[in-house]
Amino acid sequence: MENRLSDRLQNISYSQTIAMSSKARELKNKGYDVINLSLGEPDFLPPNFILDAAKKAIDEGYHYYTPVSGYLELRKVICKKLYRDNHLKYEPYQIVVSTGAKQAIMNVLLSLLNPNDEVIIPAPYWVSYLQMVKFCESSPIVIPTTMKNDFKIHPYQLEKAITSKTKLFIFSTPCNPTGSVYSYQELRNLADIFKKYPKIMILSDEIYEHICYSKKHTSIAIFPDIHNQVITVNGLSKSFSMTGWRIGYIGAPEWIAKSCDKIQGQMTSCANSIAQRAAIIALKEDPNQIEYMIKEFKKRRNLVLDMIKEIDGVQFNKPNGAFYIFPKVSYFFGKELYGKIIKNADDFSEFLLDKAQVATVSGSAFGDNECLRISYASSEEKIIEAFTRIKKVLI
Ligand code: PMP
Ligand code: GLU
Repeated sequence: MENRLSDRLQNISYSQTIAMSSKARELKNKGYDVINLSLGEPDFLPPNFILDAAKKAIDEGYHYYTPVSGYLELRKVICKKLYRDNHLKYEPYQIVVSTGAKQAIMNVLLSLLNPNDEVIIPAPYWVSYLQMVKFCESSPIVIPTTMKNDFKIHPYQLEKAITSKTKLFIFSTPCNPTGSVYSYQELRNLADIFKKYPKIMILSDEIYEHICYSKKHTSIAIFPDIHNQVITVNGLSKSFSMTGWRIGYIGAPEWIAKSCDKIQGQMTSCANSIAQRAAIIALKEDPNQIEYMIKEFKKRRNLVLDMIKEIDGVQFNKPNGAFYIFPKVSYFFGKELYGKIIKNADDFSEFLLDKAQVATVSGSAFGDNECLRISYASSEEKIIEAFTRIKKVLI
């Protein structure tokens, strides 16, 4: 059949996180008892005060298009939140509210990137960064990191990767998929490089900011000498367990915010009005209101650490944030398990789904072929059952 799809589209792949969770869902629907540890989706209900705010918004008649960048009231609340939690100074005209952090990130990339521009992305990276960059016909320049270095880049690696074509640097802290959290000093060291290259922009994805277990989260935009180079991305999906409500936002220099507004005005008009009203209430609240979820994630993280220790051959770091563990499973490569040779992380993840009925995501989705991502945004009961099954099929 004649292929009429654009080259741009054919150049990107499906999201492996979404693909794996769809597969798990399909198997479940067919009656298989699959435990889904693939998707980064909290299993809590959003807090009641947020649900009440959404119901009230419907009753009060917020049914119509909002300003493209979001209600002014919401953008004011976001500015207050960014100051309260992150010590960042933004004005409402620097804020754009979008349909999830995903759209917020894509808006930024579409605003900045020309074909052949280079974008530096430390690996392991969140699954969509690389594909979004490719969709913009730009070149991802991936910097590998090591487990020994807590999956963080060293400033000299960053400087070595910079060329005259470098336009943007993208990273997440706390990091999906590794759970690493950059310290204040580590970010300062990276900022020292960026300040030498004032034309390079930095997209700082902070969607897991509240899900931090030991170190405190720091925003790289806090440093005045590079503040104007930073686009701070955040959203409500993870912290408030509101993945389906689709609210994300940026704080950015005015020229970027204006351009995102221009793109969004043509693409989606605005984010959902009811969800925006609820976001106003969510972000006004003291972050203590969601402390119970963070405590629960920490308990689950500790449980995962206890259980994974018992699996021979698996190496791992202690995650300090987000709700993933990213163990190295290359010990199993070349080994025969249940009559099949495991060649790589894709095979290993497939094997766990087949034989243990536990869904995970291969590290290849995140630019690391030796690891596997396991989400612990699931109940303790499911986590215990999943690790018991994994252990059983690996003995
Ligand atoms: N960035 C990271 C690091 C994520 O894990 C996610 C989760 N999907 C997103 C962005 C996108 O989140 P949202 O649901 O707000 O689109
Ligand atoms: N961020 C989540 C994850 O990494 C949700 C899936 C997605 O948006 O790709 O699993």
